[in-house]
Amino acid sequence: MDVGVDDVDVDMDEVVPGLHLLRLPVANAYLWQDGDGATLIDTGPPGSGAAVAAALEFLGLARQDLRRVVLTHFHDDHAGSAAEIAAWAGARVVVGRADAAFVRGDVPGPPPVFTAAEQALHAVVAAGLEPAPGCRVDEEVDDGDVLDLAGGAVVLGVPGHTPGSIALHLPRHGVLITGDTVAEHQGQVVLGPFNTDRAGAWASLQRLAALDVEAACFGHGEPVLGDAAAALRRATDPFA
Ligand SMILES: [Zn+2]
Repeated sequence: MDVGVDDVDVDMDEVVPGLHLLRLPVANAYLWQDGDGATLIDTGPPGSGAAVAAALEFLGLARQDLRRVVLTHFHDDHAGSAAEIAAWAGARVVVGRADAAFVRGDVPGPPPVFTAAEQALHAVVAAGLEPAPGCRVDEEVDDGDVLDLAGGAVVLGVPGHTPGSIALHLPRHGVLITGDTVAEHQGQVVLGPFNTDRAGAWASLQRLAALDVEAACFGHGEPVLGDAAAALRRATDPFA
């Protein structure tokens, strides 16, 4: 639904109790709300701060209630507003260790290795996408780390889309937030396009497909609600 707060429109929906999908330009972000504050998972492209602030306000929260920003990977449509949002207050910026230097802007991230099908798609979706300004990283995480939200959110290292891509598993809620390792495209659950290591990304997708989850939330496209594990096991690779 479209929510208007202070002249800022944001398209957001509650996916499961406590978890909101924010349909930002180009990419999705997610807000998890706990009793003591909120966690933002991904930040949209540069310029999305006002939309995130409007989403927080709609939920009765202020900017300083944002405790944590988790970036699934360094790409501009996910980390693009991290620097802006990290400047609000005490939100900790959490990134997979192997992507941290790219988020900081210390070194450029490795470009994707495109298939022919991806090349055409990328020309459309990345048109006009501004680069993400460098952002401080407060916490570099590894596979198996547990973050203090949603009763314990397990970090899954899923290299391939980028070297330091991470997914978040919320086992108490049967929810998986995949980042770009998986996407929904034209009604299909697919391997996310634009990978630095395509074979690695596919292996990471298979690992996610072995989890027992009801809901899967992607960086692009609509979530799968209900037996998401089965949908992940049926994932295809239409951009090969
Ligand atoms: Zn990406």
